[in-house]
Amino acid sequence: MSELLIYNSLTRQKELFRPLHPPYVGLYVCGPTVSGESHLGHARPYITFDVVYRYLRHLGYQVRYVRNITDAGHFEEEGREAEDKIAKGATLEKLEPMELVQKYTRLFHWGMQQFNCLDPNIEPTATGHIIEQISMIEDILAKGYAYVVNGSVYFDVVKYAAHYPYGQLSGRVLDELLATTRELEGQEEKRNKADFALWKKAPPQHIMRWKSPWGEGFPGWHIECSAMSTKYLGHPFDIHGGGMDLLFPHHECEIAQSTIAYGEPPVRYWMHNNMITINGRKMGKSYNNVIKLTELFSGQHPLLEQPYHPMVVRFYILQTHYRSTLDFSNEALQAAERGLQRLWEAFDILQKMAATFPDGKHQKPAADTLAPDNLEGRIHKLCMDCREAMDDDFNTARVLADLFELVPIINAAGHHQLGEQLSPATIQLLQHTFSLYMSEILGLQPIRKQDSRLVEALLELLIDIRREARLRKDYATSDRIRQQLQRMGIQLKDEKDGSVTYSFQ
Ligand SMILES: [Zn+2]
Repeated sequence: MSELLIYNSLTRQKELFRPLHPPYVGLYVCGPTVSGESHLGHARPYITFDVVYRYLRHLGYQVRYVRNITDAGHFEEEGREAEDKIAKGATLEKLEPMELVQKYTRLFHWGMQQFNCLDPNIEPTATGHIIEQISMIEDILAKGYAYVVNGSVYFDVVKYAAHYPYGQLSGRVLDELLATTRELEGQEEKRNKADFALWKKAPPQHIMRWKSPWGEGFPGWHIECSAMSTKYLGHPFDIHGGGMDLLFPHHECEIAQSTIAYGEPPVRYWMHNNMITINGRKMGKSYNNVIKLTELFSGQHPLLEQPYHPMVVRFYILQTHYRSTLDFSNEALQAAERGLQRLWEAFDILQKMAATFPDGKHQKPAADTLAPDNLEGRIHKLCMDCREAMDDDFNTARVLADLFELVPIINAAGHHQLGEQLSPATIQLLQHTFSLYMSEILGLQPIRKQDSRLVEALLELLIDIRREARLRKDYATSDRIRQQLQRMGIQLKDEKDGSVTYSFQ
């Protein structure tokens, strides 16, 4: 049985992880609202919970990982005149809502692949689960904790708080909320300011609308996650994750509505990752510091001095514990790039050393040679500590610090500069530890530096061939080159001065 400790945001303490139905584990993570391109802020939760998923699997659990796609119902500002993010994005980009949703879902998946995040087992969409959401709302209405006004349905937070511990997760106090929450346009129909929409009546111009017992409308954002997590993971289920920005109101609302619909709180362990700041500032449109993933990987953003490889970003995120704040800067990322390179170089040395051994398992060194003050003893202790660190609320920062401590020893052993020989069993242990933690659990991949230079050189060559083809009016060849590159996600642009530039989509 594992000794994994998880910090539970609900109880604000580390708790021993005991799944409800071992060996099965249910993990739900709030997915993206696909109204625009994914940015750096999205990278942290998905990388964090990718490692949680990987580690639980490594421990032998059979994990069902559900991460939704929010493709309806996420309001720009809760309660405003029924404009949701998807509808707004579709109008701005002159696309059908479904076109917009597919475009950004594909781009999100591409970003996750770049980060080497494993696919969730189920990726449900909000629009694919309208029936489940309506049925859950009917249940809450029947139990008397919601009310219908003019085609919309609201959850009665004040009534809920009189019978259940409202605000437990976020630490919000209802009286303060009622006193301080701003009255927003279109909210007059609520009984109380703290109430939230389960279903919104669609105004005539609203495109995304569904029939319901209360007229045509669309679901609220919070009910989506409750309906989808229950459908695929049951009630209650083990772990619910997301960014700290979702604690309130999103997750607090999930708890309230599921508690009423199913009679008990929905989740055993709530996990929240902390946020990313950029050069010490919160990320936000008003600061002009929202860096999209495509900009991050291509270096095309005023705040970036160079492109950053997805693995460098992943490594940098994992160098800090997920519950601590994380600040992005060029210097920090450049240092991370060098650090990651050093770890892979050490791993290469281990591979080469191990290759010189005859095949077969090697005897572990005798226990009396493993005193903590001798070198082999220290190595074993650091390797074992990686497991302890992961068991201590997924402390990836400590795992990487342990691996870094091993690097000078490995380098010295590789260059025959150690005063003593490491036993084959110790070298195998090191090799196993590096491979297990770097690749399998932290999901890092080696960076092949020559890749980007080679791609650049090949692109220049293709652009040259295309230019020559155009000069001799061979448009079939020139079009073919452009179209093939486009299919690979590379856009060619003919500039006014006759030169050709390219960008990665
Ligand atoms: Zn959610």
